[in-house]
Amino acid sequence: MINDMPQSGWIEVICGSMFSGKTEELIRRVKRATIAKQKVILFKPQLDQRYDGKKIVSHDDNRLEAVSVAEPKDMISLSEGFDVIGIDEAQFFPPSIVSVCETLASQGKRVVVSGLDQDYLGKPFGSMPELLAIAEYITKNLAICMACGSPANKSQRLSATQEQVLLGGHDRYEARCRNCFRTQAQQRSPREEYTGLQHTNSVAIKTSTPRG
Ligand SMILES: [Zn+2]
Repeated sequence: MINDMPQSGWIEVICGSMFSGKTEELIRRVKRATIAKQKVILFKPQLDQRYDGKKIVSHDDNRLEAVSVAEPKDMISLSEGFDVIGIDEAQFFPPSIVSVCETLASQGKRVVVSGLDQDYLGKPFGSMPELLAIAEYITKNLAICMACGSPANKSQRLSATQEQVLLGGHDRYEARCRNCFRTQAQQRSPREEYTGLQHTNSVAIKTSTPRG
């Protein structure tokens, strides 16, 4: 902080689909803080080993040093003496990420969190809903649908795997708009996903979906 007066911290969340520029935006914000001589530390989840084991790498190859942590609570001691805390890929952290962000903000720190708000099924991802709820500032980035060019907020998985966590870039995902996004069940049968909701539809459609 630039003076000794106790200052209130806050939480900023940058969310969106893959290829929406979330990490790029996180990097942009923390770089601005660095220019203002604020002390910045960046964290990312240990499981994310894409491209580079040590640095935060956005899909446009804009790099910044980051510390890999497995347990969110470790960020509290590691953040001592820092003004701005950047956290990338927050959806991959366990639920304790929420209380850790609260703790850091209440210590007067600016906490900038980036993460996917929806998983490959279009469902809320990890602790992102809670982080969005407690944040002072929210930015939702949109990508461009790779199928039709509309604004996109979904991450279309291109392979048939069904784990929620499947790391990858352009080889495994595309940004898609609401109309072009298909869950795997919809790819097999366009009506399968909706049978539970359409009570007036008497047509019997098999709903079982194998889960990995
Ligand atoms: Zn589209």
